[in-house]
Amino acid sequence: MKASQFLFATLKETPNDADIASSQLMVRAGLIRKIASGLYIWLPMGLRVLQKVERIVREEMQNVGAQEVLMPMTQPAELWQTTGRFDDYGPELLRFKDRHDRDFVLGPTHEEVITNLAQGELRSYKQLPITFFQIQGKFRDEIRPRFGVMRAREFTMKDAYSFHVDQTSLAKTYHDMYEAYTRIFTRLGLDFRAVQADTGSIGGFASHEFHVLADSGEDDIAFSDSSDYAANVELAESVSTAERQAPSREREDVLTENMPTCKMVAEHLDIPLEQTVKTLIVHGHTEDNEPQLIAIVLRGDHQLNTIKAEKIEEANVPLTLASDEELKAAGLYKGYIGVDLDMPVFVDRSAAALSDFVAGANEVNKHTIGLNWERDARITRIVDVRNVQEGDPSPDGKGSLKIKRGIEVGHIFQLGDKYSQAMNCTVSGEDGKPVTLMMGCYGIGVSRIIAAAIEQNNDENGIMWPNTPAVSDSLAPFEVAIIPMKSKEETVMQTATALYEELKAQGINVLLDDRNERPGVKFADLELIGIPHRIVVSDRNLAEDKYEYVNRREAEKQMLSREEILAKVS
Ligand code: ATP
Ligand code: MG
Ligand code: MG
Ligand code: MG
Repeated sequence: MKASQFLFATLKETPNDADIASSQLMVRAGLIRKIASGLYIWLPMGLRVLQKVERIVREEMQNVGAQEVLMPMTQPAELWQTTGRFDDYGPELLRFKDRHDRDFVLGPTHEEVITNLAQGELRSYKQLPITFFQIQGKFRDEIRPRFGVMRAREFTMKDAYSFHVDQTSLAKTYHDMYEAYTRIFTRLGLDFRAVQADTGSIGGFASHEFHVLADSGEDDIAFSDSSDYAANVELAESVSTAERQAPSREREDVLTENMPTCKMVAEHLDIPLEQTVKTLIVHGHTEDNEPQLIAIVLRGDHQLNTIKAEKIEEANVPLTLASDEELKAAGLYKGYIGVDLDMPVFVDRSAAALSDFVAGANEVNKHTIGLNWERDARITRIVDVRNVQEGDPSPDGKGSLKIKRGIEVGHIFQLGDKYSQAMNCTVSGEDGKPVTLMMGCYGIGVSRIIAAAIEQNNDENGIMWPNTPAVSDSLAPFEVAIIPMKSKEETVMQTATALYEELKAQGINVLLDDRNERPGVKFADLELIGIPHRIVVSDRNLAEDKYEYVNRREAEKQMLSREEILAKVS
């Protein structure tokens, strides 16, 4: 590619709405442009990187026998109603109507669509196991889009789904996927850890996340270097003590929604932080979709994103609903915060008698009243969940735990029959009887990977793309840049162009920087974009057939012959 004909959209200034190193650098290097909160354009320079990630992911999916499909981003609501997720998924699911007043959603994930496909296309156990994947846009109406493409609203995901007659087959494909993910992140040159994870709103019973280690990560992960143990801290807490409690979906909702923090409660009620919120009530559903209240007892001194449950009590409570006016009339309005936020709220249990505390509801102007915890609540399980701390012994007894920040770049699940059950997805088994299929699902944040790679690899001059085990897997938009100095001199330009053609013929992504700019401007741009190899062709060195070579990761310039240059870059 000749730079004079390519969109170089580099910026000198750091955009003031870009919040971390990677998002600033991606905008400054001209990889992306923001058009609205959480919505980005991939410019030609950025799209080259995105397509390189896609290529590696696609190759490794094909390697484990997954077949590529492409499903629409727009999905009919009926499919989501069948599985109950149309109501359950929460505000991240963008719902809308078409001109005929039919309900649709923009796909945040594709379990419903793929299960519907499998239900229609798969007939016999002989076709199984089978795995489909796609690389495609997802939409999630994130409550707080941030960090550029790291937490966008529209983003590129690779999602794969596998179908099986039994758990043994599912476990095998899950293992293959785990290995494929390990190869993908290794090929990409990332410093990552696979950790045991919560199954979140997708459901299921076995799950691993892949995290790129970086201080800007939003998750804490705990791992031991002297054993295979590694877990998301959210999970490590409960694994390290008693059995796991409370349906994880509700817990995740609680922890991720924009609810008031303990600090806000303290300020609102003008009481010390430690005495603030003791109980958090959220509406949930039992497995059978019966309404259920979940109470989470919280320690008062934690902010939202580090909130730790001290005790989780699960209760089945008959719901009695009251409006704000009724609450006020009954004198129950005080000690209550977060009314009508259309999300879980805190209840100040210390302010009211145990017998008449008020629970927040997920619906505007509706609150549960007159609860008597001892009388109404059938407390099914109680567990102490303590914080895992750096230096704690690893649960497998080998070594002690380290805690680091991680960016979730991949997530694999064994789903079981949650979706196939709801959508009646069966095939005829060996004995001719219908078998409900077992499913796995496997996601990779293709666009997030790029931000994560930059978080791990940058310096004051800009992006440095990860060192990949294979040179051909480099994420750099161009692996080599050739800069002709005094490009007006014909021999310089001829030599530079000849080298450019030669590298191109070898399949190397090379950029000939023939822009009408000062060398200093070109060097700064190429460093910002993170081009790994820079070759300067100048009349001074032509006589000796030498080229000035600089590697993005090394300060030293080297004078190299043509052969030495070719050896460096291929
Ligand atoms: P997070 O915990 O960061 O919100 P998630 O657990 O909701 O992610 P999954 O449903 O597991 O995400 O989706 C699979 C992958 O998609 C994630 O591992 C992540 O890499 C990527 N991903 C999820 N949400 C976003 C987003 N808003 N922007 C970019 N990538 C995302
Ligand atoms: Mg999420
Ligand atoms: Mg997650
Ligand atoms: Mg996840």
